[in-house]
Order: sequence, then structure tokens, then C-alpha cells
Amino acid sequence: MENFRKIIQHNREWAAAMKEADPEYFEKRAAKQEPHYLYIGCSDSRVPANVVTGTEPGELFVHRNIANVVLPSDLNVMSVLQYAVEVLDVKHVIVTGHYGCGGVKAAMGTASYGLVDLWLQPIRNVVRWNKPELDQITDEQSRFDRVVELNVLEQLYHLSETPVIQNAWAKGRRPLLHGLVYDIHEGLLREIATGVDSQEGADQLAQRRQSGVPAGPPPIMGRMANPIMAGDELADQIAQRVMDRMAVIGAKDAQKK
Ligand SMILES: [Zn+2]
Repeated sequence: MENFRKIIQHNREWAAAMKEADPEYFEKRAAKQEPHYLYIGCSDSRVPANVVTGTEPGELFVHRNIANVVLPSDLNVMSVLQYAVEVLDVKHVIVTGHYGCGGVKAAMGTASYGLVDLWLQPIRNVVRWNKPELDQITDEQSRFDRVVELNVLEQLYHLSETPVIQNAWAKGRRPLLHGLVYDIHEGLLREIATGVDSQEGADQLAQRRQSGVPAGPPPIMGRMANPIMAGDELADQIAQRVMDRMAVIGAKDAQKK
């Protein structure tokens, strides 16, 4: 209980200090939010989004989960993305991984942690798809670091495939996608991929996979005759792709059983 009281006490002190420095500090921010960035990061307590990016309340729209995973089946991250891009009109979407990520480490091992094992499945795929490259890294720590980086690239690629990003790009709009890795030893953000603003750019990220096996269905734009197509036709294509994908997964599951 003592530890809990401590955070309330710290909150009082922080609010008083901010008000003293600027009496309007909270009122200005209470009126509205106009963040330029959507930050998708890990839940890890050592990587606080505003602190490591030096941003103030109102500047960063944030989504965090274990190992900064972006999955189209996750209603939470997809809702955050849609609201950030279509309503808040953020200019940048940033996926931030971090070295020493426990989620990535768990996905690289064989131990079972319960429900979270399901969540980490996409990262096991990252390890599998990049096996040729990873097998060449003999140092265990370096291999771990590399999986953290590859996971960020993979999640950027997932982002690029979402209808929200596809629609924004089809209309010639931002956001730009960025991939960062936070070094918990140095406190520094490392740029893994910067300023991805097209399907071509996202495809290049995906091509880094040594095995050449794509993460999901082929990107829509690559198969589109008319790159500015949007609306119902695009929605139909996306729906068809999801159904095709479900059929493949269903067939694989049936084989396993
Ligand atoms: Zn983590």
C-alpha cells in the first residue's frame, strides 16, 4: 500500500510543479488533443513512451502491448490505428521495439507462459522466416538483438497491409511509417526504418526476410491495376484476401488435427 500511495503523492507533486511553471499547462491540453504521432510500443516498464521520446501530454497517441505486435485480428490496436489516422490525422506511425524485450525472448525459447504464448506466435514466425540469417549469428545476444529489429520490421509490414494505411496511401495521404528500437542500456532510439510512405517501401522491408516467405497475403497495391483505386472495390479485395487467408489457415489447422 505504501508503494501505491507513493504514486499518488508523486502525481500531486508533479501537477503542482507543472502548474507553477505554467499556470495554463493543463487547461491548454484539456481543451483538445492534436498529436502528430501514433506510437506503438512494448508494455515493458523500462520503455515509457513519453519519457524516451521527450514528448509532452497531448503530443503522442499511444498503444502498447507485449512485444509491440501489430495484428489485423487485434481489435484494440486496429481501433487505435483507425482513430489515430482517420480522426486525429497523425502524420507519423512509429513502431518502437526495444533490446532485451522479454516478449521477444520468450518467443525465441521453448518455455510455456500460458495465454501469452498465443500472443507471441507472430514473433515465432519472425524467427522462423528469418532462420537463415539468424543461424549465421553465433553470438546469442546479437541474435536476440536482431530478432528485436526484425520484429519491428515485421510489424511495420503488418501496418502497411492494414486497410487504414492502404486507404490513406491510396488517397495520397500520410502517415509515414517508422521503425525504432530503444536501447535500454544507452537510453537511445535506433532508427531501423524511416519514412516508409508507400507499399513499395513496405515491400522492401518484407524482402529483408531471407526465406522470402511473406508474412501474410500479398500486398494489395502490388496487384492493383489502378493504384489510386479506393472505396468499395478496395474493400471487396481486402475482404476477399482475408477470406483466402482464413481458408489457408483453416486448411493448415485441419492438417495438424
Ligand atoms: Zn518488450
